[in-house]
Amino acid sequence: MATISIHPSVDNGVKPGKDNFTGGTLTCKCSDHPVKVKVAAQTAHNHVCGCSKCWKPKGAQFSMVAVVSRDKVSVLENGGKLAVVDKNATIQRHACKGCGVHMFGRIEDTNHPFHGLDFVHTELSSEDGWSAPIFAAFVSSIIESGANPASMDAVRARLNEIGLPPYDCLSPALMDAIATHVAKAKGTLYAGAA
Ligand SMILES: [Zn+2]
Ligand SMILES: [Zn+2]
Repeated sequence: MATISIHPSVDNGVKPGKDNFTGGTLTCKCSDHPVKVKVAAQTAHNHVCGCSKCWKPKGAQFSMVAVVSRDKVSVLENGGKLAVVDKNATIQRHACKGCGVHMFGRIEDTNHPFHGLDFVHTELSSEDGWSAPIFAAFVSSIIESGANPASMDAVRARLNEIGLPPYDCLSPALMDAIATHVAKAKGTLYAGAA
């Protein structure tokens, strides 16, 4: 059986993050006047994602994406090259018009459970120590981007092997956070909840 490729950052094993890491600079793939975005904090909830909306490096079946507080994200250089990929999407993905790389994704809906968090691809940084990916999200969705449905058992087995438990939505921790946010808004949150 051929080796299943997930994403270049995890195919040779998941690299652990570093304690006390304080962020770095993301650079797009343009050789001329690249867009540079500063992320001034460690990221959280890093994961590989199989959805068809996230930016993926060439040939990868999954993207790798993490979140960070939006007030820690700032454009340093060549921000004029950025444009929102789909203005109607929940996550406004700000992509470079030159190379197509998504530099950060932002949620403008203040009622959204993840409002206040930006989505970033830390592989665009040369710094070492970003939080390691901890799960795989929207695994079944890779079929929508052309993966062979018959390969899915092998894909999930490979994800488990490298320590990224596969889910067909987000991880249980994030799905619980979303449901808690909804329950609070509806007034149905369990009375003893912290
Ligand atoms: Zn670019
Ligand atoms: Zn995605």
